[in-house]
Amino acid sequence: MELHIPSDVATVVERLRHAEHEAYVVGGCVRDALRGIEPADWDVATDARPEEIQKVFRRSLYTNRFGTVVVRMGEREIEVTTYRIEAEYSDHRRPDAVAFTRSLEEDLARRDFTINAMAWSPERGVVDPFGGRRDLEERVVRAVGDADERFREDALRMLRAVRFAAVLGFTIEPATAEAIRRNAELARSLSGERIQQEMVKIVRGPVPSVGLRMLSNLGLLAVIAPELERCRETPQEKVAAQDVFEHSLATLDAAAAEMPPGTSAEDDLVLRLAALFHDVGKPDTFDDGHFHQHEFVGEAKVRQILRRWRFDKAMVDEIARLVRDHMFWYQPDWTSSAVRRFIRKVGLEQIPTLFALRKADNVGSGARAPRMYALNELWLRVQEEIQRANAFSKRDLAVDGNDVMTALGIAAGPEVGRILDELFERVLDDPDLNTRERLLELARDVHRPPAGPDPG
Ligand code: ATP
Ligand code: MG
Repeated sequence: MELHIPSDVATVVERLRHAEHEAYVVGGCVRDALRGIEPADWDVATDARPEEIQKVFRRSLYTNRFGTVVVRMGEREIEVTTYRIEAEYSDHRRPDAVAFTRSLEEDLARRDFTINAMAWSPERGVVDPFGGRRDLEERVVRAVGDADERFREDALRMLRAVRFAAVLGFTIEPATAEAIRRNAELARSLSGERIQQEMVKIVRGPVPSVGLRMLSNLGLLAVIAPELERCRETPQEKVAAQDVFEHSLATLDAAAAEMPPGTSAEDDLVLRLAALFHDVGKPDTFDDGHFHQHEFVGEAKVRQILRRWRFDKAMVDEIARLVRDHMFWYQPDWTSSAVRRFIRKVGLEQIPTLFALRKADNVGSGARAPRMYALNELWLRVQEEIQRANAFSKRDLAVDGNDVMTALGIAAGPEVGRILDELFERVLDDPDLNTRERLLELARDVHRPPAGPDPG
């Protein structure tokens, strides 16, 4: 069978063969090419040792400790890796060492799933010792070899199984799934970074609830995110027979489906994670179904989870704030000033994501029309205020601390900050005040000169 491979990749394979080495396109890119999908990256496996690979390609970039040489060819960077078997796994996490081998078949045997354990070369076509093509056709994720053993070697493979199944829309073959159930506990030893990588791919999937439900049913979620697993035991008040976990998944799916066009990949991920975790504070606040202050408990919990998975601080903060702020209750009698104060509290930049979250939350709890209208009405009023008003943080005032100091002839100090706070409060009440002239006049009114020496 012919596989369409880009010419730069073909060149890498050809040059290795020309130097009397074996060379195959291998792994995930064969899987994707067979499915008719352009692979994200192309990997080449060879019997040549790293030094030999580097002799063939003068423009090779570096090698890592697993013996991968990155070759630049045209616009591409292609990873060329010596056939290897993984030597020993003492901690279910990563091989302690790599051992090279001269056998392609041995290299394929150490790969995780049959669909990822195929190779291709112009002469031999598809090399498929474990039935990867059949599994691809039947849409099945099946471990290569003894599943228990493979998961004991590297517990990440259990998360990868779920990730591939969820993202590709495949099922996990029953014996492989059973082995995950038996070994789920081993996921406890995984590093946060590796968990994060897989969770991001699962959450970014087309229907992300599928992967999360699988994680839970296979016992993995209880190990990596017990806070979320507990939501399965907490009834959700609004929809009879729905628990908080199912509500969270419905919210996540709605968030994934309703992302406005033009949203950046990062904002999209932030929204999805906020949707998944927005009610994670509910199990701890379940008290007659009121979940009093669950948004604050949830904020703390989501922080713990995302830090554990080594998300960067800015992203953790953003998601935690969305969880904290998701419980606003709009009343049609809010004044314009109240709407502006709401915008200030949430922060101008966070407003669109918070509304998207709340909309997804409504969809996820089967909210009826009036709740949707109310949310929409607030959204329109917020847009109106954003157009009209000109200051949602102190930085937006027409004057700054220097202006105040000069105008009042006072030195830097807490009084300057107090005056700016006061000016900002007034501007929130009346945006027309936000001109240099009026603010400086106001500054003189609100300035409290320090008390003189006590005359008594
Ligand atoms: P993606 O589309 O996400 O890149 P991929 O299959 O290319 O999927 P990679 O993580 O890039 O996945 O790994 C490339 C190949 O290396 C896999 O197809 C698989 O053959 C092998 N592999 C990766 N991680 C493991 C692992 N933990 N255990 C065994 N084999 C692995
Ligand atoms: Mg890959």
